[in-house]
Amino acid sequence: MRLAGATRGEIIQSLRETGVPDRELNMRASQLWHWIYHRGAGDFGAMRNIARPVLDRLAERFTLARPEVVAEQLSADGTRKWLLRMAPAHRFDKGAEIECVYIPESDRGTLCVSSQVGCTLNCSFCHTGTMPLVRNLTAAEIVAQVLVARDRLGDFPGGVAPASGLVPKGEGVRAVSNIVFMGMGEPLYNFEAVRDAIAILTDGDGLSLSKRRITVSTSGVVPEMARLGAECGTMLAVSLHATNNALRDKLVPLNRKYPLETLLEACRNYPGASNARRITFEYVMLKGVNDSPAEARALVRLLKGLPAKINLIPFNPWPGSAFECSDWQTIERFSEIVFNAGYASPVRTPRGRDILAACGQLKSESEKLRARARMMLEESLAVGQD
Ligand code: SAH
Ligand code: SF4
Repeated sequence: MRLAGATRGEIIQSLRETGVPDRELNMRASQLWHWIYHRGAGDFGAMRNIARPVLDRLAERFTLARPEVVAEQLSADGTRKWLLRMAPAHRFDKGAEIECVYIPESDRGTLCVSSQVGCTLNCSFCHTGTMPLVRNLTAAEIVAQVLVARDRLGDFPGGVAPASGLVPKGEGVRAVSNIVFMGMGEPLYNFEAVRDAIAILTDGDGLSLSKRRITVSTSGVVPEMARLGAECGTMLAVSLHATNNALRDKLVPLNRKYPLETLLEACRNYPGASNARRITFEYVMLKGVNDSPAEARALVRLLKGLPAKINLIPFNPWPGSAFECSDWQTIERFSEIVFNAGYASPVRTPRGRDILAACGQLKSESEKLRARARMMLEESLAVGQD
């Protein structure tokens, strides 16, 4: 079993299984926690303050291995994308593959993590929505994405930053300072794992990330939104993309289940939302679809009275997508209307487009290759039936 990404309860259980006496369990668990999450230990041998026989027994049954990094790509703008293969769940499982993306800026580094393999929702403009295979990631698999990123970026004590590409560094600056759940999957359809992962990421004795620097993005799973605010206390982003139900039904099909009125009501009631902790509304700019000045005004009207930030995302094209990104002029006009209504700096610069790492472009290459292989197999079987 893998301990990198485990909860405190799982670590205690693992220690118990290796014969650590009850009276020592909490102390040993704290030591392990510190080594795994604060120091980033990749093997038990490094843990100098734990007795050798205990370490030997742990190493026999458990591992601190991370998911395998199948591929790493570095964009011209410094964005990095990793394709990770999760440990197989059983003998015939090849291991699920997911992508996560690192976006460096001069004073911060944001890691965009995945919460599912693929997504069961199929927003018409999103590449992930076309992936055939879907399963939830475990809390450990979500946390492991952060561990891999910190390993690779030299972000654990004593680590060495990679030779190429931007990595923010300096007194008190962490390479991974922010986390956004904007990779593959709908985080609120995997609530428990996301909640447990957030608890590990924000634990002060370990990775110690601030809740204010973690943002969970949802396409609008209304029944889970209040729980997210109450149990996780992270920042919320809502993928709005349209100002009326007829259009949103088409772009974000989940809208048929939870229409705009219900969604905005849940935002109004979101625990912890305030002018200091605003909800981000994401709005993808689709040419000729949702980008008119009238829609910009409708957007402002819709969000009136809500502690909101608006994030305009230029549409990121992917092979075979039916949409185009709005012209720059159109985006500027739209953003001006939003800006004049009192919302600051709303256009999100696309990052990592050259390596298909931007929002909504994640879909693992090997998954596509496998889908192609399956199609060829089906075709050859069909030919055989003739
Ligand atoms: N499932 C969640 C989080 C992952 S998607 C959600 O939908 O919110 C993260 C963001 O990228 C969402 O706002 C999503 O609508 C947006 N997105 C998806 N495909 C996109 C694309 N091709 N171009 C730009 N943004 C896209
Ligand atoms: Fe899923 Fe989000 Fe993509 Fe919609 S935009 S298909 S909810 S990942």
